[in-house]
Order: sequence, then C-alpha cells, then structure tokens
Amino acid sequence: MVRSGPDEAAQQLELKGEGPSFNRQSQKALDDPLPWLIERSLQWVWEQREFYRANGRPLSDEERNELQGYYNHAVLDVVRVASVERLSDPPFLDELRELGTPTFEVSRAAGITFVDCLVIQSLFQEQSPAWFSILFHELVHVVQHRLMGPQRFIQAYVLAWAESGHQYHSIPYEEQAYRLEARFKLHGPPFPVEDVVRQELKGLLAHGAAPETGGEHSGIVRG
Ligand SMILES: [Zn+2]
Repeated sequence: MVRSGPDEAAQQLELKGEGPSFNRQSQKALDDPLPWLIERSLQWVWEQREFYRANGRPLSDEERNELQGYYNHAVLDVVRVASVERLSDPPFLDELRELGTPTFEVSRAAGITFVDCLVIQSLFQEQSPAWFSILFHELVHVVQHRLMGPQRFIQAYVLAWAESGHQYHSIPYEEQAYRLEARFKLHGPPFPVEDVVRQELKGLLAHGAAPETGGEHSGIVRG
C-alpha cells in the first residue's frame, strides 16, 4: 500500500494536463466512458483541491478535540475545511448525461472531500453534532486518499461506482466511511481510523469485492 501526502499527490496528478482535445475526448468517451470519466474526475478534483487549499480553514480547536481520539495529528493538521451554500456539480456532468451514463450529483451531497480539503454545505451548522459526523465521514476519505495515493484512490472510486451499478451506497469506500461514521456516532471508545482503514483496504484491494454490509440511506449523502 502506498502512503501519499499532498506533495506526492501534486506530482501524481500533474499528469492531468496532457489530455487530447475536447472533440477527441468526446469520441474516446463514446468508445469507453470510464477512462474519460477518470481523467475528467482527476482534473476536477485537483482544481477543486487547489481552490480550497487556498480558501479553506484549518480545523478549529473544538473540532480537533472532538476528532483527535480517532485521527492522528498528521491528518488533523493537513486538512482544510470550507462551508459553502451549495456544492458545485462537476463541469462534465452534462457530457456524462449525453453519454447515457448515470450521473452523480455532488450538489445533493452534504459534504465532499477533495484529497485533503473538506467542503460541507452550510445548512449544517458548524460545531453541531451533524457537523462533526460529516467531518468524521469526510476524514475517512482523507485517510483513504493518503493510504492509497490520491490518483489511485480517485480511479478506484470511479471504477467502484461503475462496477456497483452506479449505486453510491454500494461503493466500498463509501460503505466504509458510513460504517465508521456510525461507530463514531455511537460515542463508544475512540478507535484509530487509519489502522482500521488500512486493514480493511488490504482485503478490499486484494479481492476487489465490496463488503456486504449496507450504508446509511438518508437521502442526503456525504460525497
Ligand atoms: Zn463519502
């Protein structure tokens, strides 16, 4: 398993700028939408990450206190958080629709993670229990990015979305985040999220199968 911090992420995602022209991309997308979708997703995630690195804030003392039993300092130090009125859908959503592929509407999510930047809808009041739950969930995704490397994680996430019949809650990386979030919400003894994620990813990546347990089906998703 590859450990990867933001700087390595930058190097890996530098590949994004070499894409063919729009028309060639569209033709390629018609032939096989997945590589096209992965490429566009990587580009979009990286652009968003750059924006929120500059415009997000570090975790507050209260947030760190709430989360430090679960996440190590390296994770808590690196993340940036932003609260926004509305999450933006990726710019390639219309192209995806035109291809007849099911789409994922980020604008319906409660929050989303761009590598190490967490963006959360402002309808969730900061420092509320719901806010901490969303933070916890999105931080699981930060750990997934760090353990797998951002490029590999984003590729695996998009592939898993396609392989699960475009069912968001069946994506194993979401199932893991929801399950650990549920454990957090029970207020039991804290547990080391990175160790749990590392252990489970070993099995997941070795077998390429989604765990059986279902996620939370609350209508509004975490992203
Ligand atoms: Zn999620």
